[in-house]
Amino acid sequence: MADIARRDFINGTLVTAGALLAPGWLMDCAKRVTEDSPRYPPLLTGLRGSTASAFEAAHQLAWAGKVWSDPADTGEEYDLIVVGAGISGLSAAHFYRKEFGKDAKILIVDNHDDFGGHARRNEFNVSGAMRLCYGGSQSLEDPYSYGRESRQLLRDLKIELGVFERAYNLKFFKSHGLSDVTYFSKEKYGKDVLVPVRLVDNGYTLPGLPAGPLDPLGAVASMPLPDEAKAQLQILLTDSAKTAAEIPKAKRSETSYFAFLKDMGITHPAILEMLRRMSTDETGIPADCLSLSEAMSGDLPGFKRPHKESSDPSELYVHHFPDGNASVARLLVRKLIPEAVTGSSMEDIVMAPLDYGKLDQKGARVRLRLNSTVIRSELEGEEKNAKRVIVTYVNQGKAYLVKSRHCVMACYSAIIPHVVPGLPEKQKADLKHQVKAPFVYSTVVIKNWNSLKKLGIGGAFCPGNFHQVLLAGMPTEIGGYHSPSSPDEPMALTLIGVPIPEKSGLSPKEGFREGRRRLLGMSFDDFENEIKRHLDGMLGPGGFDADRDITAITVNRWGHGYSYVGSNMFDEESTAKIAARARKPYGNIVIANSDAGAMASVDTAMDEAYRAVHELED
Ligand SMILES: Cc1cc2nc3c(=O)[nH]c(=O)nc-3n(C[C@H](O)[C@H](O)[C@H](O)COP(=O)(O)OP(=O)(O)OC[C@H]3O[C@@H](n4cnc5c(N)ncnc54)[C@H](O)[C@@H]3O)c2cc1C
Repeated sequence: MADIARRDFINGTLVTAGALLAPGWLMDCAKRVTEDSPRYPPLLTGLRGSTASAFEAAHQLAWAGKVWSDPADTGEEYDLIVVGAGISGLSAAHFYRKEFGKDAKILIVDNHDDFGGHARRNEFNVSGAMRLCYGGSQSLEDPYSYGRESRQLLRDLKIELGVFERAYNLKFFKSHGLSDVTYFSKEKYGKDVLVPVRLVDNGYTLPGLPAGPLDPLGAVASMPLPDEAKAQLQILLTDSAKTAAEIPKAKRSETSYFAFLKDMGITHPAILEMLRRMSTDETGIPADCLSLSEAMSGDLPGFKRPHKESSDPSELYVHHFPDGNASVARLLVRKLIPEAVTGSSMEDIVMAPLDYGKLDQKGARVRLRLNSTVIRSELEGEEKNAKRVIVTYVNQGKAYLVKSRHCVMACYSAIIPHVVPGLPEKQKADLKHQVKAPFVYSTVVIKNWNSLKKLGIGGAFCPGNFHQVLLAGMPTEIGGYHSPSSPDEPMALTLIGVPIPEKSGLSPKEGFREGRRRLLGMSFDDFENEIKRHLDGMLGPGGFDADRDITAITVNRWGHGYSYVGSNMFDEESTAKIAARARKPYGNIVIANSDAGAMASVDTAMDEAYRAVHELED
């Protein structure tokens, strides 16, 4: 396979596919990657997302209580230090400038080599063509329902929702005969079988993607499952809604979904395993942890309402840039540090070169410091009277001190008790309730998508593979960015993996921890081999050859992914209530991040930033 290095990347490697042929801005990006200038992280491939170098210091702190002695005093003093450069941290800096004035001196610190947190840009040069993809946070979901603050923030960034609605080509999938299918792998099911049926609705994330031509009930016969499993699947599809309706509504939230299935005689491991993987998309929680009411609202098979796509694009999942919410992060960075990014519109941000060398410039009003993990935020003096916060961060194993009047912790809630040791013990326990779900979004660039076209695949549920979902590139064109329209052109595919525990029986949070451990044990080689086997088995009959046709792989591994939303079956108290206590201000230190709102969404990240900044006193 050309251009994919095989070792386990710590910081990724630069995609060079066709870089020598690349004109203009492509060469600009390549030029930036020299020994004496910072790299251009969006172009790095290999094992990305949360890399070992990004989480090393945090894990040393949280797991081993490591102490970094004698931090070097930088002498830097700010009005605000923000911990975490995700959407929430960047939004907090923006709201702070609106509240406390544009002259405010701000330092934003993040442990990764790129900003945006989960909103991560994956960029590739393939023989002179730019391909973009989202490495995590993808879409502004249902943006017309956003709250006042997040809507205002979109306006501040000059984001006009109608642009997205016009930029997404709703006819793309139909015009190429691509639909939503199910792939059973040989490894798991004994033979490779592609069934043209929608079992998981990828048409929600890819509007305009039609369901495969078979209806689920009619498709059961062609699935490579034992006869008993097929019979049970048929019962599930025909009877579960009816049987569930006989259970009083109030009781459904106390009834385990799997106990309900057992009562219906649905116990075959092949069916239960498939169901466990189907439910994870929204929350990361497998079906064995769901209550009956959660399973019903999660649209699991048998409970699925007929998919009727609105003809009004404003109601569809189209509000995203070609690199997902990474361009929202880029717009925020341009507002905060205009010298680092050119342009002035929501359209031109997509292709705008970004100079990472200008993010952290001496004397600038706003500085963004990457590769730096905050290991301590302490009030100087008593909580009531403290005038300053002393922040210690670690960069390349060495600790540094910076000071500020205010501090916003826009990082994961669960790390805060380790970083802010002065917090009350009860608040620390509430913060630790937020255990995030692990996710992997792998971007796989293929030389052409003739095989997808030949087999009619635009999206797929793949119950037998690590990556359980495959999505074709989004047909979104903004600001001169061209998404592939001919099957001869390269395309960036998204493969989604949710590492749930092998067996049921764990609580969601125990399962997240177990999945995270498993993810950390996987090397880039493991992911690469799995991806090659997956695509060869699935697309091989369409003429695909992984060794020949894959140009680049970027594995976005998010050990700490979606914020935890809570569970009917396992939590005694609502997670939202716990989050409300956990985010209480502590002197001049306030708490943002989507975790603070117990909801994995961009608008929550923005709203929590607004709330946190407005808790600060002058
Ligand atoms: C794979 C994936 C897909 C998603 N898709 C969507 C979507 O389509 N739409 C949607 O609305 N939401 C989506 N989400 C939810 C996503 O979490 C939010 O959209 C949003 O990006 C969260 O922003 P945040 O700033 O709150 O957190 P994060 O993005 O997690 O940012 C926090 C940052 O703080 C850093 N940090 C943590 N500890 C420290 C420390 N001690 N020192 C320095 N830095 C630290 C983190 O590494 C991170 O960079 C998705 C999430 C994932 C994982």
